[in-house]
Amino acid sequence: VIDMVQDDPGKLKPRPPVITVMGHVDHGKTSILDAIRNAKVVAGEAGGITQHIGAYQVTTDSGQLLTFLDTPGHAAFTSMRSRGAQVTDIVVLVVAADDAVMPQTVEAINHAKAAKVPMIVAINKCDKPSANPDKVRTDLLQHEIIVEKLSGDVLDVEVSALTGKGLDDLLENIALQAELLDIQANPDRSAVGAVIEAQLDVGRGPVATVLVQNGTLRQGDIFVVGEQWGKVRALINDQGERVKEAGPSVPVEVLGLNGTPEAGDVMNVVETEAQAREIAEYRHQAAKDKRAAAGAA
Ligand code: GDP
Repeated sequence: VIDMVQDDPGKLKPRPPVITVMGHVDHGKTSILDAIRNAKVVAGEAGGITQHIGAYQVTTDSGQLLTFLDTPGHAAFTSMRSRGAQVTDIVVLVVAADDAVMPQTVEAINHAKAAKVPMIVAINKCDKPSANPDKVRTDLLQHEIIVEKLSGDVLDVEVSALTGKGLDDLLENIALQAELLDIQANPDRSAVGAVIEAQLDVGRGPVATVLVQNGTLRQGDIFVVGEQWGKVRALINDQGERVKEAGPSVPVEVLGLNGTPEAGDVMNVVETEAQAREIAEYRHQAAKDKRAAAGAA
């Protein structure tokens, strides 16, 4: 089901931006995501250790809430898009200051451009004696990225995931970029979301981390997600706490699925279990037919 509900503009409210970190291997994507999480996520009552559920939220010093997808790299971004889920509002392009613009940097630039998602450049590893941030800036010119320091309009920030220097600045720049984008959703409607990751958990059954994109997802909601369906038995946030509901841009683990969906599957809340089952079964059959046809060809 494609999202058919037209949102009344009067019901739209600002929602946190969703950020994906991309860049060449070893340029520090994982380190930056870890450093931000460790510095900014307020430890929950559940025990103080944040859960890795594939996404997390942080609050900047200026009070802006941001949602980070915690799966660095391009595979997640492209597979999500190919399955119909466009979840990212802002791409942070990580380039190591002791290296240069590399093949996967260019790939990331192309993905962001194709998806029409604005970019912020994080020049990482600036703690290194061999760091040369200006070389990164001029390298990027060849790919039509003109950063602010060179009088362009792409925000660029020098950071070090190792020392933490510049990370607050990066977060404030993301908040600034988000403000320009005027990102909104309607929390007062049935939820639409996208699966960030999913697995079959030994104790809990199928578990999916869903990023709510519009509306509010609640305990007891009946939903269809890809070829699966379910009824929300429990919602667990990025701090491991049980929550009753999750609004726009909030990532939550969803329990109560009949099977394991795939990353990038779209979740829609529907009215009845019969509806959910029917849509899921129809999709399952269609996918099976498609596979059989592909096998016969
Ligand atoms: P990814 O492949 O882009 O996720 O890169 P990683 O986060 O795994 O980092 C690759 C290597 O660079 C690791 O050995 C990190 O410890 C190191 N690294 C990452 N960020 C920094 C930094 O800011 N400064 C320094 N000196 N090393 C870093």
